[in-house]
Amino acid sequence: MTLETSVPSGEPSYECAYCGQPFSHREYLVLHRGLKHGDELSDEEVNAFHEAYEEESEELRLFRLKALALLVLLYFGFLFMYSIVP
Ligand SMILES: [Zn+2]
Repeated sequence: MTLETSVPSGEPSYECAYCGQPFSHREYLVLHRGLKHGDELSDEEVNAFHEAYEEESEELRLFRLKALALLVLLYFGFLFMYSIVP
């Protein structure tokens, strides 16, 4: 997973308290903290990480489902086309 870490000037940024890296979204910081500083986090920060992480996974799962549905649709679309074209 790659995170967008550059922050446009004027945008609110969230800085990692452990290494000082800026993030444009609070979720990115939460994910970064969990991935890079997992051993140093407080329980509260660990919980925030797990919540953010599960949200990401859920989005990924939905995306995969949609991609699969599209593939199936295409497959049957082609089957149908071949069946009517002599
Ligand atoms: Zn950090």
